[in-house]
Amino acid sequence: MFIAMKPHATQAEFDAVVEKVRALGLTPHPISGTERRVVAVVGNTGTVDPDDFGMLPGVAEALRVSQPFKLVSREVKEEGTIIDVGGVQIGGRAITVMAGPCSVESREQILETARAVKAAGASILRGGAWKPRTSPYEFQGLREEGLKLLALAREETGLKIVTEVMSTDTVPVVAEYADILQVGARNMQNYPLLERLGQVKKPVMLKRALSGTIKEWLMAAEYIVAKGNPNVMLCERGIRTFETATRNTLDINAIPVLKSLTHLPVIVDPSHGIGIRKHVAAIARAGIAAGADGIMVEVHPNPEKALSDGHQSLAIPEFAELMREVRVIALAIERPVM
Ligand code: PEP
Ligand code: MN
Repeated sequence: MFIAMKPHATQAEFDAVVEKVRALGLTPHPISGTERRVVAVVGNTGTVDPDDFGMLPGVAEALRVSQPFKLVSREVKEEGTIIDVGGVQIGGRAITVMAGPCSVESREQILETARAVKAAGASILRGGAWKPRTSPYEFQGLREEGLKLLALAREETGLKIVTEVMSTDTVPVVAEYADILQVGARNMQNYPLLERLGQVKKPVMLKRALSGTIKEWLMAAEYIVAKGNPNVMLCERGIRTFETATRNTLDINAIPVLKSLTHLPVIVDPSHGIGIRKHVAAIARAGIAAGADGIMVEVHPNPEKALSDGHQSLAIPEFAELMREVRVIALAIERPVM
C-alpha cells in the first residue's frame, strides 16, 4: 500500500501518517520526490483499509500497490530515481558510461585503462577484484589488492569505481573502497547478500541473473531497498536462451519494460550481453537507443592477453570509437553523455 501526501501537506500531517502505520505494526518507508511525498507501507497490509488513511489530513490518496514489488515500483514513486555517486548522477537525463577491464590484473593495466577511458569520456571505472569464474582453476581476481589498485586509479583520474562483491563476508571491505557495489548475475537471488547490501550506505548495481525474469529481478532489488538502501540500479547483461552464436542474448525488451515498471536507473552491459568484441558497439548503441540510463563496457589495453573475458573486451581505440557513436545516438534522443 502507499499513501501519497498532498503537495502542501505539513510535516506534522506526514508524521501522523507514519505514526499510524507503525501503530498498525507495519513498516513505513518515506519516499521524497520533487512532486509529492509518499509513505510506502510494507508488511501484511491485507486487513488494512486504505480509506482509513485516505481520510487523514494532508493525505491525497491511499492505494494498494498492484505489483508484488512495492518500493521499487513506479506506482509508488512516479519520478525516476537519480543516484548521486560523488557528483556523477545516474538515472537523470545524462547517459553514464562505465568502462574498464573485466578483472583488475596489475597496477599498470588498471592505470593505463583508467586514463584511457577517462580521456574517451567515461565517468566510472569498472574492474573485478573478486571474480565469479565458471572454473575454479581460472584467475579468481586480485581481491583486496585489486580494490587498492582501483582506489589508486580513482585517486589519479577522479573516476568513480564499480566492483563486484560476491559474498556477505566481503561486503565491509568492498564497501570501504568501491563507489558502487556490483552484484553479479550469479548472485542476483543470493538473498542474504542482498539483505546485507540493504544496510550499506553505497549504491548497488544489481545485474540480471542468467535466467532471471524481470519480476524476479525486481523482487531481488526490493530486498535491498526494503532493508534500507534506496540507491539501487539494475544492469541488463544478457540472458541465457537457446541461441549459441552469442554468449548471451541481451534482452533489449527489458529496457523499456523496466523503465515503465520501476523508478530505478537501468544500465546495459553489451560486453557480457553479446560476448563478441566486434559486436559490442552495436549492442551499446541499441541499449542507449532503447532508453538505458547508462552502459558498462569491458575495455583492456591488450585484450589478447586479458586474464578474463578478453574475447569481448574492447581495445582502447575501439572504446574511443564506441564513445563517439554513443554520443551520436544519445543526441538523437536528446540525452547528453556524462
Ligand atoms: C562482470 O561484470 O565481469 C561479470 C562477471 O558479470 P556477470 O555477473 O554479469 O556475469
Ligand atoms: Mn567480465
